[in-house]
Amino acid sequence: MNYNYKLLKIKFEEGSVIIAGAGPGNIKLLTYKVFCALKIADVVIFDALVNKSILNYCHSKTKLIYAGKLKDKKACTQKDINEWMKFYILKKKKVLRLKGGDPSFFSRGAQEASFLKKNKIKFQVFSGITASQSSLKTIDEDFFDNRYFCDLITGHRRINNPEISMDFSTLTKNKGKIIVYMGVSQLEVISENLIKNGLKKNTKVSIVCSASLPHQKIIFSNLKNCVDLKKKNGLKSPAIIVIG
Ligand code: SAH
Repeated sequence: MNYNYKLLKIKFEEGSVIIAGAGPGNIKLLTYKVFCALKIADVVIFDALVNKSILNYCHSKTKLIYAGKLKDKKACTQKDINEWMKFYILKKKKVLRLKGGDPSFFSRGAQEASFLKKNKIKFQVFSGITASQSSLKTIDEDFFDNRYFCDLITGHRRINNPEISMDFSTLTKNKGKIIVYMGVSQLEVISENLIKNGLKKNTKVSIVCSASLPHQKIIFSNLKNCVDLKKKNGLKSPAIIVIG
């Protein structure tokens, strides 16, 4: 059956920014609001983890700017992104700042929002499906969890930095699932510290790589063996690690 559908209207003013989440990768997990924003944006500044196929929804004149690693492998800076946004806003363009997953989770959305506020640039935030939402449903029949806590943490390498030390004892006391973003390279530090702080060595660990995409890969393990298994299987980012 052919559906004769009309695009629902979203508010996207000239000279304004929408900071939006493109979901974990699978095009079908794009929210309808973000889909509509893609259709009418003049400029899209997109991150590395955004599925490039969704850019086909843009009109042919949309300016597409990649904000991941540049050709010489140097990542563009936050300053570059801020300057691009400001440049196109001054030209009264509709700027869509597109991030992987949801912009509220480990995406530096706050830095961009505060830049926009400081420069009196109007912006809205459109949610996306975050990578852990997509990962949880694939690993656990029991994903309708009735526990009281769930911690979302970043395992970024700065975890080793004493100034931003992670409070592992609080994490283990919470007795909920611990969900780690950006944790593949730090799995050893994380698992060692969780064991030191009271979690059992046989605590369940599931690693979901490229969640929602056709090449998604899942490894089931435990705190004691997960590092070996990660190495043996050559697991790579992007991955969500679910502990407990
Ligand atoms: N804002 C994003 C997270 C950005 S941080 C969100 O809400 O999902 C980048 C990290 O997100 C990656 O290192 C990885 O841990 C996770 N991630 C993003 N896409 C993923 C995917 N398709 N599968 C598994 N993990 C993913």
